[in-house]
Amino acid sequence: MSTGVPKVPLAFIGGSGTFSLDLPAAISRLGGRILAQDLVWPTPYGASPPFTLFEVEGNPFPVLTCKMHGQRPGVGRAEAARHVFWVFREAGVRKIISEGGVGSVNHLLEPRDIVIPTDYLDFSLRRDVDLGGGYLSIRRQALCPPLHRLLLEAASRRPLHRVFGRGVYVVTDGRHFESPAEINLFRHWGGDVVGQNLCPEVYLAREIGACYAMINLVVNYGEGLVAPWSYELLREIFYRDAEPLAAIIFAALRRVDPGQDCGCPSLRKPTLLVDGAASAAGQGWVTRAALSGRRTSGRGGSVRGPAEARANPSLP
Ligand SMILES: [Zn+2]
Repeated sequence: MSTGVPKVPLAFIGGSGTFSLDLPAAISRLGGRILAQDLVWPTPYGASPPFTLFEVEGNPFPVLTCKMHGQRPGVGRAEAARHVFWVFREAGVRKIISEGGVGSVNHLLEPRDIVIPTDYLDFSLRRDVDLGGGYLSIRRQALCPPLHRLLLEAASRRPLHRVFGRGVYVVTDGRHFESPAEINLFRHWGGDVVGQNLCPEVYLAREIGACYAMINLVVNYGEGLVAPWSYELLREIFYRDAEPLAAIIFAALRRVDPGQDCGCPSLRKPTLLVDGAASAAGQGWVTRAALSGRRTSGRGGSVRGPAEARANPSLP
Protein backbone atom coordinates (compact mmCIF):
# COMPACT_ATOMS: atom_id res chain seq x y z
CA MET A 1 0.00 0.00 0.00
CA SER A 2 1.36 3.41 -0.90
CA THR A 3 2.25 5.61 2.03
CA GLY A 4 2.22 8.73 -0.14
CA VAL A 5 5.88 9.42 0.57
CA PRO A 6 7.61 10.36 -2.71
CA LYS A 7 10.79 8.60 -3.79
CA VAL A 8 13.62 10.95 -2.84
CA PRO A 9 17.26 9.78 -2.71
CA LEU A 10 18.84 12.62 -0.70
CA ALA A 11 18.09 14.02 2.76
CA PHE A 12 19.31 16.81 4.98
CA ILE A 13 18.47 16.74 8.70
CA GLY A 14 18.47 20.26 10.07
CA GLY A 15 19.60 20.91 13.64
CA SER A 16 20.19 23.89 15.90
CA GLY A 17 22.84 25.28 13.54
CA THR A 18 20.25 26.00 10.82
CA PHE A 19 17.16 26.28 13.04
CA SER A 20 16.79 30.03 12.54
CA LEU A 21 16.82 29.76 8.72
CA ASP A 22 13.89 31.43 7.06
CA LEU A 23 13.34 28.38 4.86
CA PRO A 24 11.66 29.52 1.65
CA ALA A 25 13.70 32.71 1.33
CA ALA A 26 16.96 31.16 2.49
CA ILE A 27 16.68 28.18 0.12
CA SER A 28 16.15 30.55 -2.76
CA ARG A 29 19.13 32.70 -1.74
CA LEU A 30 21.29 29.56 -1.50
CA GLY A 31 20.48 28.54 -5.05
CA GLY A 32 17.76 26.04 -4.22
CA ARG A 33 14.11 25.73 -5.14
CA ILE A 34 11.30 24.52 -2.92
CA LEU A 35 9.16 21.79 -4.50
CA ALA A 36 6.75 21.21 -1.60
CA GLN A 37 6.37 22.26 2.01
CA ASP A 38 4.61 21.14 5.19
CA LEU A 39 4.60 17.48 4.17
CA VAL A 40 3.38 15.40 7.12
CA TRP A 41 2.85 11.63 6.90
CA PRO A 42 1.37 9.18 9.37
CA THR A 43 3.98 6.70 10.61
CA PRO A 44 3.51 3.60 12.81
CA TYR A 45 5.01 5.72 15.63
CA GLY A 46 2.81 8.80 15.19
CA ALA A 47 2.64 11.72 12.77
CA SER A 48 5.91 12.75 11.17
CA PRO A 49 7.35 16.24 11.61
CA PRO A 50 6.73 18.61 8.70
CA PHE A 51 9.13 18.02 5.82
CA THR A 52 10.20 20.30 3.00
CA LEU A 53 11.11 18.95 -0.43
CA PHE A 54 13.59 21.03 -2.38
CA GLU A 55 16.22 20.85 -5.08
CA VAL A 56 19.70 22.31 -5.13
CA GLU A 57 20.95 23.98 -8.28
CA GLY A 58 23.32 21.63 -10.09
CA ASN A 59 21.97 18.36 -8.67
CA PRO A 60 19.00 16.74 -10.45
CA PHE A 61 18.04 14.74 -7.35
CA PRO A 62 15.60 16.31 -4.86
CA VAL A 63 16.30 16.60 -1.13
CA LEU A 64 13.95 15.90 1.76
CA THR A 65 14.55 17.99 4.88
CA CYS A 66 13.13 18.66 8.34
CA LYS A 67 14.09 21.00 11.14
CA MET A 68 15.64 20.25 14.54
CA HIS A 69 16.05 16.53 13.88
CA GLY A 70 12.26 16.22 13.78
CA GLN A 71 11.91 17.28 17.41
CA ARG A 72 8.71 19.04 18.42
CA PRO A 73 7.06 19.92 21.74
CA GLY A 74 5.81 16.72 23.38
CA VAL A 75 7.88 14.45 21.09
CA GLY A 76 11.08 13.00 22.53
CA ARG A 77 14.33 12.77 20.62
CA ALA A 78 14.16 9.01 20.10
CA GLU A 79 10.54 9.17 18.94
CA ALA A 80 11.34 12.03 16.56
CA ALA A 81 14.24 10.10 15.07
CA ARG A 82 11.96 7.13 14.39
CA HIS A 83 9.46 9.40 12.62
CA VAL A 84 12.18 10.93 10.46
CA PHE A 85 13.85 7.68 9.48
CA TRP A 86 10.60 5.85 8.84
CA VAL A 87 9.84 8.56 6.26
CA PHE A 88 13.37 8.28 4.85
CA ARG A 89 12.98 4.53 4.47
CA GLU A 90 9.67 4.95 2.66
CA ALA A 91 11.26 7.59 0.44
CA GLY A 92 14.17 5.28 -0.40
CA VAL A 93 16.71 7.83 0.85
CA ARG A 94 20.31 6.75 0.09
CA LYS A 95 22.48 9.63 1.36
CA ILE A 96 21.88 11.70 4.50
CA ILE A 97 23.66 14.83 5.72
CA SER A 98 22.86 15.95 9.26
CA GLU A 99 23.84 19.10 11.10
CA GLY A 100 24.07 20.22 14.70
CA GLY A 101 25.44 22.83 17.09
CA VAL A 102 27.79 21.21 19.62
CA GLY A 103 29.77 22.02 22.74
CA SER A 104 33.54 21.65 22.83
CA VAL A 105 35.20 18.83 24.75
CA ASN A 106 38.66 19.22 23.23
CA HIS A 107 40.18 22.32 24.85
CA LEU A 108 41.76 23.38 21.54
CA LEU A 109 38.36 24.04 19.94
CA GLU A 110 36.72 27.46 19.81
CA PRO A 111 33.21 28.71 19.04
CA ARG A 112 32.49 28.76 15.27
CA ASP A 113 34.97 25.96 14.59
CA ILE A 114 33.49 23.29 12.34
CA VAL A 115 34.04 19.64 13.22
CA ILE A 116 33.08 16.87 10.79
CA PRO A 117 33.28 13.83 13.05
CA THR A 118 34.86 10.55 12.11
CA ASP A 119 33.64 8.54 15.11
CA TYR A 120 31.47 8.77 18.19
CA LEU A 121 30.99 7.67 21.81
CA ASP A 122 27.35 7.00 22.66
CA PHE A 123 26.54 7.97 26.25
CA SER A 124 22.84 8.49 25.64
CA LEU A 125 20.51 6.51 27.86
CA ARG A 126 17.80 6.06 25.25
CA ARG A 127 16.39 2.60 24.83
CA ASP A 128 17.17 0.79 21.61
CA VAL A 129 15.84 2.93 18.78
CA ASP A 130 15.14 0.99 15.63
CA LEU A 131 12.50 0.47 12.97
CA GLY A 132 12.08 -3.25 13.62
CA GLY A 133 14.49 -4.33 10.91
CA GLY A 134 16.41 -6.79 13.07
CA TYR A 135 19.73 -6.24 11.33
CA LEU A 136 23.26 -6.83 12.47
CA SER A 137 24.57 -3.29 12.21
CA ILE A 138 28.33 -3.06 11.74
CA ARG A 139 29.79 0.12 13.25
CA ARG A 140 32.91 0.21 11.09
CA GLN A 141 32.73 3.20 8.70
CA ALA A 142 29.72 4.56 10.61
CA LEU A 143 30.22 7.99 9.07
CA CYS A 144 30.24 7.68 5.27
CA PRO A 145 33.74 8.55 3.92
CA PRO A 146 32.63 10.15 0.60
CA LEU A 147 29.91 12.23 2.30
CA HIS A 148 32.43 13.25 4.97
CA ARG A 149 34.87 14.32 2.24
CA LEU A 150 32.23 16.42 0.46
CA LEU A 151 31.38 18.22 3.72
CA LEU A 152 35.05 18.79 4.51
CA GLU A 153 35.77 20.22 1.06
CA ALA A 154 32.69 22.46 1.17
CA ALA A 155 33.51 23.73 4.68
CA SER A 156 37.15 24.34 3.78
CA ARG A 157 36.12 26.54 0.85
CA ARG A 158 33.92 28.79 3.02
CA PRO A 159 34.95 28.35 6.67
CA LEU A 160 33.18 30.20 9.46
CA HIS A 161 36.35 29.83 11.55
CA ARG A 162 38.60 26.74 11.56
CA VAL A 163 37.63 23.40 10.02
CA PHE A 164 38.49 19.98 11.45
CA GLY A 165 37.99 16.83 9.42
CA ARG A 166 38.64 14.48 12.33
CA GLY A 167 36.88 14.28 15.65
CA VAL A 168 34.97 12.13 18.09
CA TYR A 169 31.40 13.19 18.84
CA VAL A 170 30.16 12.34 22.33
CA VAL A 171 26.41 11.72 22.43
CA THR A 172 24.44 12.60 25.56
CA ASP A 173 20.70 12.77 26.18
CA GLY A 174 20.52 16.49 26.91
CA ARG A 175 18.67 18.74 26.79
CA HIS A 176 20.75 20.18 29.62
CA PHE A 177 24.40 21.01 28.99
CA GLU A 178 27.11 18.93 30.65
CA SER A 179 28.70 19.46 34.03
CA PRO A 180 32.43 20.30 34.32
CA ALA A 181 33.09 16.79 35.64
CA GLU A 182 31.29 15.22 32.68
CA ILE A 183 33.24 17.32 30.17
CA ASN A 184 36.47 16.35 31.93
CA LEU A 185 35.52 12.68 31.76
CA PHE A 186 34.61 12.88 28.05
CA ARG A 187 37.91 14.65 27.34
CA HIS A 188 39.93 11.92 29.00
CA TRP A 189 37.98 9.28 27.11
CA GLY A 190 38.89 10.82 23.76
CA GLY A 191 35.88 12.98 22.92
CA ASP A 192 36.22 16.22 20.95
CA VAL A 193 32.67 17.64 20.85
CA VAL A 194 29.42 16.85 22.63
CA GLY A 195 25.86 16.86 21.26
CA GLN A 196 22.63 14.93 21.35
CA ASN A 197 21.78 13.74 17.87
CA LEU A 198 24.44 11.76 16.03
CA CYS A 199 23.03 8.71 17.83
CA PRO A 200 20.52 7.27 17.14
CA GLU A 201 20.57 8.84 13.65
CA VAL A 202 23.73 6.99 12.67
CA TYR A 203 22.15 3.66 13.73
CA LEU A 204 18.89 4.31 11.90
CA ALA A 205 20.72 5.35 8.73
CA ARG A 206 22.46 1.99 8.63
CA GLU A 207 19.20 0.19 9.35
CA ILE A 208 17.58 1.71 6.27
CA GLY A 209 20.72 1.07 4.20
CA ALA A 210 21.59 4.75 3.78
CA CYS A 211 24.89 6.63 4.10
CA TYR A 212 25.20 9.23 6.84
CA ALA A 213 27.60 12.05 7.73
CA MET A 214 27.29 15.02 10.08
CA ILE A 215 28.70 18.54 10.16
CA ASN A 216 28.91 20.31 13.51
CA LEU A 217 29.36 23.93 14.46
CA VAL A 218 30.94 24.51 17.87
CA VAL A 219 28.62 26.96 19.65
CA ASN A 220 29.95 26.86 23.21
CA TYR A 221 32.93 25.86 25.31
CA GLY A 222 32.31 22.77 27.40
CA GLU A 223 31.95 23.64 31.08
CA GLY A 224 35.30 23.93 32.80
CA LEU A 225 37.21 24.46 29.54
CA VAL A 226 39.01 27.66 28.48
CA ALA A 227 36.34 30.14 29.68
CA PRO A 228 32.67 30.25 30.68
CA TRP A 229 30.59 30.13 27.50
CA SER A 230 28.73 33.24 26.46
CA TYR A 231 24.96 33.33 26.06
CA GLU A 232 25.27 36.37 23.79
CA LEU A 233 27.74 34.61 21.51
CA LEU A 234 25.53 31.51 21.45
CA ARG A 235 22.60 33.65 20.34
CA GLU A 236 24.71 35.41 17.73
CA ILE A 237 25.89 32.10 16.27
CA PHE A 238 22.37 30.66 16.15
CA TYR A 239 20.92 33.66 14.34
CA ARG A 240 23.82 34.95 12.26
CA ASP A 241 25.62 31.81 11.20
CA ALA A 242 22.66 29.67 10.18
CA GLU A 243 22.80 30.76 6.55
CA PRO A 244 26.60 30.49 6.12
CA LEU A 245 26.40 27.00 7.62
CA ALA A 246 23.52 26.11 5.29
CA ALA A 247 25.59 27.40 2.35
CA ILE A 248 28.29 24.84 3.20
CA ILE A 249 25.71 22.07 3.38
CA PHE A 250 24.13 23.13 0.08
CA ALA A 251 27.57 23.15 -1.58
CA ALA A 252 28.01 19.56 -0.42
CA LEU A 253 24.48 18.53 -1.45
CA ARG A 254 25.14 19.90 -4.92
CA ARG A 255 27.82 17.21 -5.36
CA VAL A 256 26.17 14.21 -3.70
CA ASP A 257 25.63 11.30 -6.06
CA PRO A 258 22.94 8.99 -4.66
CA GLY A 259 24.29 6.12 -6.74
CA GLN A 260 27.88 6.28 -5.49
CA ASP A 261 29.07 2.92 -4.22
CA CYS A 262 30.96 3.59 -0.97
CA GLY A 263 30.42 0.26 0.77
CA CYS A 264 28.24 1.57 3.61
CA PRO A 265 25.09 -0.43 2.73
CA SER A 266 27.10 -3.68 2.78
CA LEU A 267 27.78 -3.06 6.49
CA ARG A 268 24.17 -3.95 7.26
CA LYS A 269 23.78 -7.73 7.49
CA PRO A 270 20.81 -9.98 8.22
CA THR A 271 20.76 -10.90 11.88
CA LEU A 272 22.10 -14.34 12.74
CA LEU A 273 19.57 -14.67 15.53
CA VAL A 274 16.77 -16.12 13.42
CA ASP A 275 14.19 -18.54 14.68
CA GLY A 276 13.66 -21.91 13.05
CA ALA A 277 15.47 -24.56 11.07
CA ALA A 278 13.78 -23.66 7.77
CA SER A 279 15.52 -20.29 7.73
CA ALA A 280 18.82 -21.85 8.62
CA ALA A 281 18.48 -24.43 5.88
CA GLY A 282 17.46 -21.82 3.32
CA GLN A 283 20.01 -19.17 4.20
CA GLY A 284 22.86 -21.05 5.79
CA TRP A 285 22.23 -19.13 9.01
CA VAL A 286 22.66 -20.61 12.45
CA THR A 287 19.57 -21.53 14.43
CA ARG A 288 18.43 -20.07 17.67
CA ALA A 289 18.91 -23.43 19.31
CA ALA A 290 22.43 -23.72 18.00
CA LEU A 291 23.31 -20.31 19.34
CA SER A 292 22.00 -20.46 22.85
CA GLY A 293 19.00 -22.70 23.18
CA ARG A 294 16.83 -19.80 24.23
CA ARG A 295 15.30 -16.68 22.74
CA THR A 296 17.64 -13.75 22.95
CA SER A 297 18.25 -10.35 21.48
CA GLY A 298 21.96 -10.03 21.96
CA ARG A 299 24.63 -8.31 19.90
CA GLY A 300 23.43 -9.83 16.64
CA GLY A 301 20.32 -7.64 16.74
CA SER A 302 16.74 -8.38 17.64
CA VAL A 303 15.22 -11.77 17.03
CA ARG A 304 12.99 -12.03 14.00
CA GLY A 305 10.84 -14.88 12.82
CA PRO A 306 11.42 -17.18 9.87
CA ALA A 307 8.65 -15.58 7.82
CA GLU A 308 10.36 -12.20 7.95
CA ALA A 309 13.73 -13.74 7.22
CA ARG A 310 12.40 -15.53 4.15
CA ALA A 311 10.66 -12.39 2.97
CA ASN A 312 14.03 -10.63 2.72
CA PRO A 313 16.29 -13.27 1.19
CA SER A 314 18.62 -10.91 -0.60
CA LEU A 315 19.36 -8.32 2.02
CA PRO A 316 22.88 -6.96 1.55
ZN1 LIG B 1 28.53 5.66 2.32
